[in-house]
Amino acid sequence: MKTVPEFFGCKVFDDRVMRANLSDDVYASLKKTIDEGVQLDITVANAVATAMKDWAVANGATHYTHWFQPLTGITAEKHDSFISPSPDGGVIMEFSGKELIKGEPDASSFPSGGLRATFEARGYTAWDPTSYAFIKGKTLCIPTAFCSYGGEALDKKTPLLRSMEALNIQALRILKLFGHDDVKCVRTSVGPEQEYFLITKEMYDKRPDLRFTGRTLFGAKSPKGQELDDHYFGVIKPKVAEYMEDLNNELWKLGILAKTEHNEVAPAQHELAPIYSTTNIATDHNQLTMEIMQKVATKHGLVCLLHEKPFAGVNGSGKHNNWSISTDTGVNLLSPGDTPYENAQFLLFLCAVIKAVDDYQDLLRLSVATAGNDHRLGANEAPPAVISMFLGDELNGVLEAIENDTPYENAKKTKLKLGVDVLPKFNRDTTDRNRTSPFAFTGNKFEFRMLGSSNSIACANIMLNSAVAESLKIYADRLENADNFEEKLHEMIRKTIKDHKRIIFNGNGYDDAWIKEATEERGLSNLKTTPDAMPHLLDKKNVDMLTSHKVFTVAELNSRCEIMLENYCKAVSIEASTMIEMSKTDISPAIAKYTAKLAKAIKNKKLADSSIPCSYETSVLKKLSMLNDNIAIKTEELESILASLSDYTDIGKESFAIRDSLIPKMEEVRSLCDEAETCTAKEFWPYPSYGDILFSVK
Ligand code: ADP
Ligand code: MG
Repeated sequence: MKTVPEFFGCKVFDDRVMRANLSDDVYASLKKTIDEGVQLDITVANAVATAMKDWAVANGATHYTHWFQPLTGITAEKHDSFISPSPDGGVIMEFSGKELIKGEPDASSFPSGGLRATFEARGYTAWDPTSYAFIKGKTLCIPTAFCSYGGEALDKKTPLLRSMEALNIQALRILKLFGHDDVKCVRTSVGPEQEYFLITKEMYDKRPDLRFTGRTLFGAKSPKGQELDDHYFGVIKPKVAEYMEDLNNELWKLGILAKTEHNEVAPAQHELAPIYSTTNIATDHNQLTMEIMQKVATKHGLVCLLHEKPFAGVNGSGKHNNWSISTDTGVNLLSPGDTPYENAQFLLFLCAVIKAVDDYQDLLRLSVATAGNDHRLGANEAPPAVISMFLGDELNGVLEAIENDTPYENAKKTKLKLGVDVLPKFNRDTTDRNRTSPFAFTGNKFEFRMLGSSNSIACANIMLNSAVAESLKIYADRLENADNFEEKLHEMIRKTIKDHKRIIFNGNGYDDAWIKEATEERGLSNLKTTPDAMPHLLDKKNVDMLTSHKVFTVAELNSRCEIMLENYCKAVSIEASTMIEMSKTDISPAIAKYTAKLAKAIKNKKLADSSIPCSYETSVLKKLSMLNDNIAIKTEELESILASLSDYTDIGKESFAIRDSLIPKMEEVRSLCDEAETCTAKEFWPYPSYGDILFSVK
C-alpha cells in the first residue's frame, strides 16, 4: 500500500507534474502566467494541453471538462471526450491549447438573471491556471471561470478573482509606504472548516423531505438530543471513522489538504478542516470537498447532509471562513509583529478590516444569505444575523489606549504613539476564544463564522476582500499625500477606532440583550432573513464600492440580486410542495388509519363488555382526530398561499410573501404534524423519527 506522501496529489496536474512533463521554456512561461497573471501564448497553451492530456490519459481519463461554479448548485461540468477520428478508421486522443483555455458550454440552462439575451444563449469558460487541473473519475477537470459573451461574470469565481486583485492593488500601495518594495503580490488565504451530518442511506430513503429539500420538514424532537454533549467528546464511531479515512484518501489524491476531523455538538454531526490555501484555490477545493463528501458517503451506505438545518431543534451546520492576508514574501499582514514599526503596519491592516466590517456589514450578511442559512443565523446556536467583531482583551487594550491617548497598561505605562519607537510590543491574544462572535480575531487571522455549511465560500470572500480593499484605498490615498507619514498614520488609526468601535463586541453574541444593544444603541444592522438582506446588494454605497474596484458591474449586481432571491423563492417553494405532499399522502392517511384502528378497538371493547374502560383510546382518538382535521385545513391554506405566489412578477415582493405568509404557514402545518407524531403508534407513522435518523450510524 502506498503511503500518503506517495499518493498525495496523484490526481492533480500540479507543479511536480508540470515540471516533469513540460519543457523548461513552456514551464517557465506557464509559471509566469500562474504567478504574475501574464497572458498565455497559444503555442505554450498547446504544449501544456498536450502534456495535460497525455498525463490524464495515462491516468485513466477519457474525457475532459471545464469545471466551474455557476450561481446555483455546487459545480457544473460538460464532458467532452478526447477522441478524434484518425484517417485509418481508429481514433486518437486529442486536446488543443484552444480547448484548454476556452470552452463553450451551452449556458442557457444556467441562471444569468437576464444577463444573457436569448439570442446569445452561449457563455464561455476560461481557464484559471492558478488552480490546478485534476482528474475526477475518468474526467480531466479544468478549473475555469464562466462568463457571458459580453464579458459579464456568470459564476462565483470571476468576481472572486477580481476581488483578490482589488485587494492586491490597494495592499501593495500601503506596503510601498512602509518601504516594502520587494513585495510583488498580496494574497488572501482561507481555511474553511466544514460541518456536516452523516446518516444512513436507509433512513434517508424513507424521508421525502430529506431527498427533495435536504432537510426534514417534519419530525418531533428526539428524547435524546445534544443535551449531554457526549457526542462532541465521544470517540468517533467505527462506520464514521471508516468514512473519514476513505474521504481523507480521496481528498488527498486530489491534493486537498484535509487535516482535522472531529465530531460536532449535535448527534451525527461532524467537522472537517483543511490546511488553509490561497482563496480561489480554497474555494475550488471546498466545492470539490463537498462533492467528494457526498460521493464517498454513498459508497459507505451513508448520506452526507450539507444543509444548514437538517433537523429542527438540533444544532445546524455552518462553515468557518478563516481568513488572512499575506505577501508573496511570506509575511502574514494580520500577524502582530516583533517591532513597533511592524506593529504600526499590523494595526493599520487590522483597522482596515474593522472599518470594512463596519462599513459593509450588510454586504457580509447578504453574502451568506440563503433559505437554509436563515434557519441558523439568529437561532441560539450560530452567530446572530447582527455582525460584530471580537478582538480579545489584549488588542482591545491597545486600541483603547490609542483612542484615548492613554498609557497602555501591559506595556509598563508607555504612551502609545504609532510608528514611533515607543509603541509597545504586545502579545498575541491569549484569552479564551469567543465562540459566539460572528467575526473573531484569532491571533493572526479572522474567523468569519456566519457562513452556512452549503454556501460557496466565494461569496463571503468576494465581499470581505472588496470591503478591505476599499478601506486600504482610503488609507493609501491619505497616506500618499501626507506631509508627515507617522502623524497621519496615527491620526487615521485613531479615527478608525473612534468611528468604528461600535462594531467591536467581546461579550456573548447569543445573548438577547446584545441584539437589543446592537440594534438600538449601536445602530448595527440586523437583517434577519434573505429577503431582508439581499436587496442591500443594490444600495448605492455598495454598488459604488464594488464597481469602483471592478469586482462587479452594475448589470452583474442586478442579475446576482435577482438570482439569489430566485434561489431563495425556489428553495422554499419546493419545501412547501414537499410538505403538502407529505402531509396529504402520508401523514393524514396514516393518522386516519391509526384513528380508525383506535375507534374499532373502542367499539370492540364496548361490545365485549361495556364496563371495560377505554379512556386512553378515546382521548388519543379525540386528540388525533382534531389534529388531523386541522392538518387538512392548514395544508389546504398552505396550498393556496403557494399557488398565489405565481401571481408575483417582482421577485423581491415574492420573497417577502414567502417570508411573511408561506413560511409561517409551513410552521403551523409542521407543529400540528409533529404533535400528531408524538401520539401516534410508531408502527403507523410513515417516517423514521428524529431518534431513528440521528442515531442511525453505528
Ligand atoms: P480551530 O479554529 O479549530 O481552533 P485552527 O485555528 O488551528 O483551528 O484552524 C482552523 C482553520 O484555520 C484551519 O483550516 C487552518 O488551516 C486555518 N488557518 C490557520 N492559519 C491560517 C491563516 N493564517 N490564514 C487562513 N487560515 C488559517
Ligand atoms: Mg474554528
